[in-house]
Formats: sequence, structure tokens, C-alpha cells
Amino acid sequence: MALRLDIEPERLCRFVELYTEFHRHPELSMEEHRTAALIESELRASGLETFRCGGTGVVGILRNGEGPVVAFRADIDGLPILERTGLAHASVDTATLADGTVVPTMHGCGHDAHIASALAAADLLATDLTAWTGTVVFVFQPGEENAAGSAAMIDDGLWRRAPRPDVVLGQHLGAYPAGTVQTRPGHVMSLADSWKVLVHGRGAHGSQPENAIDPIVTAAYMITRLQAVVSRHSSPLDPTVVTVGTFHAGLKENIIPDEAEFTLNVRTPNDKVRERVLGDLRRILAAEATAAGAKAPTITEISRFPRCFNDPATTALVGTALRSSLGADAVRVDRPLSMGSEDFGRLGDSIGVPSVFWWFGGIEASRFEMMAQPVPANHSPLFAPDPVPAITTGVQAAVAGILAFLGPATVAGQDDTDER
Ligand SMILES: [Zn+2]
Ligand SMILES: [Zn+2]
Repeated sequence: MALRLDIEPERLCRFVELYTEFHRHPELSMEEHRTAALIESELRASGLETFRCGGTGVVGILRNGEGPVVAFRADIDGLPILERTGLAHASVDTATLADGTVVPTMHGCGHDAHIASALAAADLLATDLTAWTGTVVFVFQPGEENAAGSAAMIDDGLWRRAPRPDVVLGQHLGAYPAGTVQTRPGHVMSLADSWKVLVHGRGAHGSQPENAIDPIVTAAYMITRLQAVVSRHSSPLDPTVVTVGTFHAGLKENIIPDEAEFTLNVRTPNDKVRERVLGDLRRILAAEATAAGAKAPTITEISRFPRCFNDPATTALVGTALRSSLGADAVRVDRPLSMGSEDFGRLGDSIGVPSVFWWFGGIEASRFEMMAQPVPANHSPLFAPDPVPAITTGVQAAVAGILAFLGPATVAGQDDTDER
């Protein structure tokens, strides 16, 4: 039978308080200075070794004798959203972007619950060292929302400075009933690429198109033609999305501008489809520029989310542990592929070790029955997880997943009575 550690209400209280503290003060990707300092002091209070990694990343190491090494990742960044939950612990903070723009900030993706759950799991495992053996590496990763954080930690020597793990685990809170968990083997989320496309034209008076290369018309043809990548170039069995999210050009109706700029967001289900789709996009952008007599557009990568791939055998093992801890009916292991994206997969893929990622429910189950509208989900200004059931589920799933790999300690008298 799998090992199980449950969190007592008094101990849970501390982490719910911490959750509200993180929720009140969200920080944007790669700017999580205050958040990182608080995480570090809490990890130390629980008795873990810590080091900073990748700027605002924090690593906590819990060593407990011989045995496997399990890495558990929690992402820590907030989002530029004006929170409208009306909660007592709602954020009223703002942040200043690099260009000087002031934006509101919100923990609109539940990363505050990821932090609180991982801190509670670390504290629980550190308190009961007789129940398991091995090493747990808690990876508090900055910058998930811009796909920069896992790369920053790896580049800063994460796996040279921390014990090399045998497996990397991660979890995400979702607008599902608390107490439930969902995962799947294989690709769990889409790969994502975002580009800025600068279309070069030749400006002129609006009355003299013969002297111009109109970048607005050229960009419009590009955007229209890009739609064919999904509808005409891709198999309907390979879920793919191409979205143009912004378009900016010109200052006045009677001036043909020099340039037009738009941004693209592309979601693909695996590396093979990604490379084909990105190749199609580059070809179309270049060819439409040629057709207009313009020079090739300048393409700048904004972000690149890697694959998030659950190793099937390892996922089956984790699924069994989660079922044993949360109940067989509470754990779904066949959730569909999500077209959202994550940079979690890079942590395991960078060193060739298997990883498993799952979602846990953060909403009191009764709210789903009471609401006429869908419960607001991640990235909504109304997204409001229920702290106690959310963190209870997050800790329970985290500990169950970690203990799936760390056998019970073989000290005298140790047996299943350790289950409590
Ligand atoms: Zn998010
Ligand atoms: Zn998220």
C-alpha cells in the first residue's frame, strides 16, 4: 500500500495564511523578489537547505538518507490582470513594466496555491523523516507565464547545484472540484510559439499608392493566408491553433505607413507538427512580402514553450499513488490534451529524466452546483480558488506523488502503521 501523510488542520492554517499573503502580493514573471525571499525563509524554517537559482528561483533540498531523488516543481509568478474577485485577500498591487507602463497584478493562475502547497508538502515531509528515504528537491520556478523561468534555472546550473533527480513532478491548480486530480500519459499540453512580425513597406501620401509599398495590405494578406495553415495544411487529427493577437500600423488615414506589426501565437500538439507549422508560417510570410515587392518581414521570437510530456510508465505509477491517496474516483488519468502551454517539461527533458504533470481541483465542489455560469477559470479577473480545499488537495497530491518514488524507511519497527 502506498505511503500517505495527511496535513493536520493547525499546520494547514499556516499555509493557508501564507497563500493569502502570496495572493495579496503577486509579482510578474522573473520579478518575483519578495515572493522568492518569503519562500526561502519558509523553506529554511522547515529545515531545508536552499539556494537561489535563475534570478528569482528558489531551490529547497530535503535529504533523508539513501534512495531516489525526486524533484517537485512549483511555479511562482503572477499576471498583469486587474483582480475583480472582491475577496478580502484580493490584490491591489501594481507593477511597472520595462517600458514604464504601470499594470495591475493578480495571482490569476493559482501559482500562489502552488507555492503554498509545495511549502506545506516540504514541511510535512521534513517533519516525518521516518516515513521515507531519499532526497526531495523542491524547485520554486519563476517566470512560467513567459516560458523564461525553467530555462533560466537550467542555465544557472540547477541540475549541477541540486542533486540530479530520477523524476521531475509538477502540478497545476484548475477550476475543477477540490479533492480531484486529472492527468494523462504522453503529451499533456500543447507546444507554443509566439512571434512578433514586422512588415516592411514604403510609406507615401495616401493619394499616391504608386509610390508606396503598403505594409497594411501586405500584412492583411499574410494574416488571411496564415489561416490556411490550420484549415488546409494540417491534419484535423493534429490539434493546431494560429492566432493573431495584435495588429498595429499607421497614424493617419491619408498616410501609407512604412511598417505594420502584428503578433502571432501558435499552438501545436508535438515537435513534428510544430516544425512543419512554423516552416509553413515562415514560407507564407516571406512569399507574401515578395508578392508585394517588399523585403522579407523581420520575425522576432517572443516566447517558446517546450513540450510537456508525461512519461507513460511513470505517469501510471503516479496515478496509482494519487488514487490511493485521494480515492479512485477522484483521480482521472485520461484527461484530454490541453491547448494551454507550460515550460515545466524543460526541467526533465534537459537532463533526459521522465516527468509527470497533473492538475488538481481548487474550487469547493458545491460551487459548481450553485453557479448558473461556468466557474471563472485561470487567467480570469474573477478566478477565485477556495484556499482551504485547494491547498488541502494540492498538498495531498504533491506528497502522494513524491512518496510514490521514495520507499518507506527500513528502520526497526517501521511498517504500514506509519500510514496515518
Ligand atoms: Zn497561467
Ligand atoms: Zn499557470
